[in-house]
Formats: sequence, C-alpha cells, structure tokens
Amino acid sequence: MRVSRLMLVTLRDDPAEAEIPSHKLLLRAGYIRKLGSGIYAYLPLLWRVLQKISAIVRQEMDATGALETLLPQLQPADLWQRSGRWAGYTAGEGIMFHLEDRQGRELGLGPTHEEVITALAADLLRSYRQLPVNLYQIQTKFRDEIRPRFGLMRGREFIMKDAYSFHPDEASLRQTYAAMDGAYRRIFRRCGLKAVAVEADSGAIGGSASQEFMVTADAGEDLILTSADGRYAANQERAVSLPGAPVELPGGLRSGGSGELLPTPGQTTIEQLVAAHGFDSSQLIKVLLLLARFEDGHRQPLLISLRGDQQLNEVKLANTVSSRLAGGHGVLLGIDPLSSELVAELNRSEGLAIDLSAVPLGYLGPDLEDAVLTAARPSLVVDLRESRVRSAGAAALPQPPRPHMATSFLRLTDPTAADLPAFVCGANQVDQHRIGAGWAGLGLRPEVVDLRAAQPGDRCLHDPSQTLAAARGIEVGHIFQLGRKYSDAMEARFTNEKGTEESLWMGCYGIGVSRLAQAAVEQNHDANGIRWPLAIAPFEVIVVSASAQDPQQVSLAEEIYNRLGSAGVDALLDDRDERAGVKFKDADLIGIPWRVVVGRGAAAGQVELVCRDDGQRRDLAVEAALEALLKVIQASRSGLESGVES
Ligand code: ATP
Ligand code: MG
Repeated sequence: MRVSRLMLVTLRDDPAEAEIPSHKLLLRAGYIRKLGSGIYAYLPLLWRVLQKISAIVRQEMDATGALETLLPQLQPADLWQRSGRWAGYTAGEGIMFHLEDRQGRELGLGPTHEEVITALAADLLRSYRQLPVNLYQIQTKFRDEIRPRFGLMRGREFIMKDAYSFHPDEASLRQTYAAMDGAYRRIFRRCGLKAVAVEADSGAIGGSASQEFMVTADAGEDLILTSADGRYAANQERAVSLPGAPVELPGGLRSGGSGELLPTPGQTTIEQLVAAHGFDSSQLIKVLLLLARFEDGHRQPLLISLRGDQQLNEVKLANTVSSRLAGGHGVLLGIDPLSSELVAELNRSEGLAIDLSAVPLGYLGPDLEDAVLTAARPSLVVDLRESRVRSAGAAALPQPPRPHMATSFLRLTDPTAADLPAFVCGANQVDQHRIGAGWAGLGLRPEVVDLRAAQPGDRCLHDPSQTLAAARGIEVGHIFQLGRKYSDAMEARFTNEKGTEESLWMGCYGIGVSRLAQAAVEQNHDANGIRWPLAIAPFEVIVVSASAQDPQQVSLAEEIYNRLGSAGVDALLDDRDERAGVKFKDADLIGIPWRVVVGRGAAAGQVELVCRDDGQRRDLAVEAALEALLKVIQASRSGLESGVES
C-alpha cells in the first residue's frame, strides 16, 4: 500500500475530546474518527489492526475445536423475557438499545448473545452425543453505556468475540473453560500484550468460576488487587482479604451494653467524629441507608452496617440483595443511597415530595426502627419510577408497575462490624451518638454478610504475611462458567446417557476486540506515537525515501517495497512528495514497527533499518536488511518471540 493512497490524515495536536494517550494517538494518527458519543468509524489503518487481532483470535478458537458462526444482532424481546433479562437490560440503567418494528413488536440490539444462542441450543441440541459444542462469533455489539468514554475502550458500538459452550455435565464445562483460559493467554501473548488473569465477579448467580483478563495500564478503569507471591489476583469487585484489627475502645466502654449518649453536634461523618473525639475509625459503626429498586415496583430500603474504617463493595451488596429478593420481585434495577441530596434531586427534577424528616441522617444507628419508614412512607411511595423508561413507544409498552415501599429494612452487617464487641454508632437522634454500645445491648442479632471492599495493603487470606497491592487494568477478556442459569430459564434440555432429560451446562467467553486494539496502544506508545506490537501492526514495514526528488532513492525504495510485497510482508511505501522529517514523524506516529530508510547510501546499495520499538538504527546492505526483516516477521507470525538478531 502506498501512503499517498491511504487517505492518511494525521493531526499535529492532541484532540480536545481525548483524555488518555491511546485515544489521543488513535485520533491523531488517523485510525479512528468520532461520529457520536461512543460511536467511532474504524478507518482503514485500524481495520487492518482489527483484522489481524481477529485472525489470531480465530486461529486460537479454531485450535480448541470451537466453531465460528454469526448470530443476529436484532433480537426479539420475547427471548429476553424468557431469560428474565428484558427489564434489567431496558429499564433503569439497562444498556440495551431497543426498538419497535412496524408491526409493533419489540426488539433489542444485541449487547450480548446468551439468549439467542440458548434458544438455538434448545432447538438444535437434543442428545448428549452432540455435546460438548462451542460456538463463537466476531461481531459488532451494541450497548447504551451510561458513560461511553476513552474512545474504543468504552464504546456504544464495539467489536467483540463471544463464544458459548454447551455441555452434558459440569466436568465437561470445566474442561472447555480450561481450554479457553489457555487460548486466551495465547491470544493476548501473541497480540503482544501483557495481560493478567484475575478472579472476577460472577454476578448474582454466584458460585460459578469467572476470570477476567486485564491489560495493566494506568488508564484502566478496573482496580485489581494482587499479592506479590503471584498466588492471588482479583478484580476489586470480587476480591477478599483480611481486614486490619480494630482498635479497642477504652476499658470502661467495652461492656457492649446499650452504650452512653455522646453529644456530637454537626458531626455527621466518620472523619468529623474522629477529629472531634480522637476515635480510631475502626471503633465506629458506619450505617448506610440505601434504596433497592426492583422490576415489579418493590422498593426495598436497606440498612447496611460496616466498620467505620471499611468501604462498601457495591457489587457484593447488589449480588446479595438480588439473590435474596429477585425471586419474588424480578430483576434488581439499581441501588442508590437515600441521601438528602438524592431526595432533593428527585423532588426537584421529578416534582416529587419525598420527606425524610423522620430519618436522622448522619446519626443513624444499626437499631434504627422500621417505624421511620412508615412515618416517611406516604411521601417515599411516590414515583421513584425509572427515569429512563423510554417515552417513545410508551403506549405499546406495559406501564411500569407502581412503586411500593417495603415497611421494614433489609438489615445487613459486614463481619468487621458484627465482630466488634463494643463500638460508637449513631443514636438515631440528631446531634447524638452512642459510645460503648454492643449488638446485644441494642437488642440486635446482626445478619452477617461479606460486604466490605478489599483494599490495597490488606493482608491476604491465603497467606497473611502477604499484602495486596493495587494496579489498574483494562478488561480485555472475560471467561465465565454460567452453569444452567440460561438453559433452565429457556428450557434448553438434552437427553443424557441414561435417557433422562436435563438442562444443558453452559459457559461463555468474551474478548473486546476493538478495546484490545486500543489497550495495545495504551501499553505500547511513547512521546512520538504508537509502537504497535509487530503481530497486530497495520503494516509491518514502512519504506521511506529520504528525498522524493532523488530518482535513485525513489526507485530503490520502490524495489524494496515490491520485494517485501512479493515475500508476503505487509509493507507500506511512503511515496508522498514530503520532506523526510514529515515522513519520519508520520511513520513514528502511526507506529509501524520497522522502517527502511532509503537515503544517501542508495547509490552504494545501503539502507537504514530503524526499529520503532527501541529506536535502534543500523546501516545495512539492501539484501541484509531484507533478510533481517523477513526473519523477524517470520518469527512473529509463527507466534514466537520477536527480535532482530544483529
Ligand atoms: P465492562 O465491565 O468493562 O463494562 P463487561 O464486563 O460488561 O465490561 P462483558 O460482557 O464481559 O463486558 O464483555 C466481554 C468483553 O467485551 C469485555 O471483557 C470487554 O473487553 C469488552 N467490552 C465490554 N463492553 C465494552 C464497551 N462498551 N466497549 C468496548 N469493549 C467492551
Ligand atoms: Mg466482564
């Protein structure tokens, strides 16, 4: 390919819309253009990168015996209603774009394909003899992300490789899961990425194994916690650890009765209490008042107790609340803090009149009585409906059920709080706390659930001499043992060896192909531009003549370009009538791994070979340069470590 034919438009300055290096560079180097929020055109250079990544993904998937397929992106709502996910994906913070066709039928644009594939499995898979099978596709996914950002990292339209496997039993599922784990490790290594596998959250179904693959980079949105011995790595959403020991209250206050009242005027935060009274935050109980919203309109107030030095893990909380209540009330749509700010916001933006006056916010104790809910109830009942329920086509939609408020709290207590024999907590009266209170003294028997977020610095469960360190990661892949959740819901059954019917076992496996391309840039760039790993670079070599006016240079450059092409190398020829400096700058910016510069040495058959990655330059005879290039490219293509030998 010739640069003059490439429609290459590079930008000198960083575009204002981009915050992180990889996003800036992909825009500046002419790889992508923004069409709308989270919507990008993949320009020809990026498309070549995506094709190369896809080819590696295909090879590794095929090697595991998986079958490539292509499933519909327009997905009938009834499939999602059968799996029970329609409401969760369309109402509230749901991320599925959905629409109505001319016959008034509801459809969703595929954010993922569990429903479609399970329906097919129910239809096609009948006998254990057909199992196991694993189907994959590489395709555009649509997700109405709440915060699309960082270019291809979080798009609303993006390319994913997704695979779904079906099994006669759990052992077979585990086998394929392990094979996919291996394939994923090879894929990321072959793409030139440093990726780590971490334990991931498995959602409300719990129990099943799930692993994410993270490209470590400062711009990553995920926090991962790892131990130095390499034996533990988990997404913070999922991570577990040993909390630090609490500091005991002074002698006279350790009885754990009902405690004594402590005037705390205006002290509504842990920090204020610590500053005013010299407490250690581990001596306090933090009580959080939250509201969980369910599909059927059920509104469940939550009263969560944590030790004052601990943070709530929202994912653990959502999983717990969902598994407790989703059975009776449908999908959990969201959990929000019932703060006075939120109430004011709801009152202002939605014309509501919620009144929390019976609730002494900032002074809550774990023994807050259910009666405050009834006092506040008439106003709390009002329209806490999903604000994002679409107005278009609303007539055809069933009306969202009227919200109704539970009359008692769901009270959950983290072990760090439950284990305190005596503590300081709110007294459920404005400007008052209790000091030296205990659970029995308050008349409570706490329901204990792990809700705390593991933190960097915490000791590890597997070895308390190890501590957790934090790193940021970009999730490029996720593998998941789904079990029978979807096959149970959608009645995808097979006949086993004994002749009885049972639900299929399922796994699913995703790779964010377009996100991976950008993650590669995030991990491989410098001040001058991108440094593509050779295996996924849009072109492997760029041939540049220093002077476009020198016929000898121009013809030698042409010759080298042609010879590279005949040898099957992806070569680019910068044939533009530009100054050498401009061409070199662009070559660095777009990040082609190898540059052959045809300059003054052309007359003597000498060229300069420049490595983009380490900047090393060598003057070589044309033949030697070609030989070196072919060698390194061959090595990379066969999946081996690359590196030119001198
Ligand atoms: P995230 O937690 O980042 O939102 P997810 O857990 O919802 O991702 P999965 O459903 O596991 O994502 O999708 C499989 C893969 O698709 C992810 O590992 C990620 O690499 C990629 N991916 C997910 N959402 C996006 C997006 N909005 N833009 C680009 N890639 C995405
Ligand atoms: Mg995921």
